[in-house]
Amino acid sequence: MTGATRFRQAALGWIYPPLCAGCETPLDSGRQIEMPFLCHECEETLVPIPEGYCQVCGQSYETSMISTAHCGNCGDRELAFDFAVSAYRSTGGAREIMHAYKYGRQLHLSRLMGHLMQRVWADTRLQETRSWLVVPVPLFSRRQRKRGFNQAHEIAREFIRSAPKDYQLHLAPLLRRNQHTVRQAQLDRKERLENLTGAFKIRKKHLPEPDENQGILIVDDVMTTGTTVSECAAVLREASEDSPTEWATLAGLSVLRG
Ligand SMILES: [Zn+2]
Ligand SMILES: [Zn+2]
Repeated sequence: MTGATRFRQAALGWIYPPLCAGCETPLDSGRQIEMPFLCHECEETLVPIPEGYCQVCGQSYETSMISTAHCGNCGDRELAFDFAVSAYRSTGGAREIMHAYKYGRQLHLSRLMGHLMQRVWADTRLQETRSWLVVPVPLFSRRQRKRGFNQAHEIAREFIRSAPKDYQLHLAPLLRRNQHTVRQAQLDRKERLENLTGAFKIRKKHLPEPDENQGILIVDDVMTTGTTVSECAAVLREASEDSPTEWATLAGLSVLRG
């Protein structure tokens, strides 16, 4: 966003109160700080990922069960991240707001997405590391130009901005997407697993030496099977293979979980 755009948005904010992304109710400034662009009633309709999600891929179960092993989604697969955590289920209102954000050029909703993703801090495995590089899942350049922004990058930035102050988070766009892969949402599970092979490349000169006190958070808007995030994690691991140390943790985060 350019400075001029930012200024225009700020100016518009004085004249028109911000509206809820779900129901267009005007929001007062207190609510806007608490949860930007979402009224209390619409927030109530979101379904948080319940405790007892898969400790590997973050998939939530229909019935609550505590498991340390793999689930039906990841049981037969090698995933390159240590674990994944999502904030809300991709259902109803949450899904509609995400759709409006991504395809309706509603860039201002990045703030809401960054706020919603704060729920992931409840996972104690994330609390064990205080310093994280936050790596957005890249979009293919042509798609990004068409959409005007990369939602994962914007969410990562806003996630950092509204994170608890006891963490050091650094935005690190370490990856690029080097081919026009078919949109994952259009594929069935088996096709998804095969679609992305070789899609991500490391931006080598930006890659710092791995630090055993630092972790990597790979951020996406929606996670379904976890394949995309796993591909990103694999590329990051491979690029630092020859280093004497490893990253503390490589975790995947998303606002919504399909
Ligand atoms: Zn609302
Ligand atoms: Zn799983």
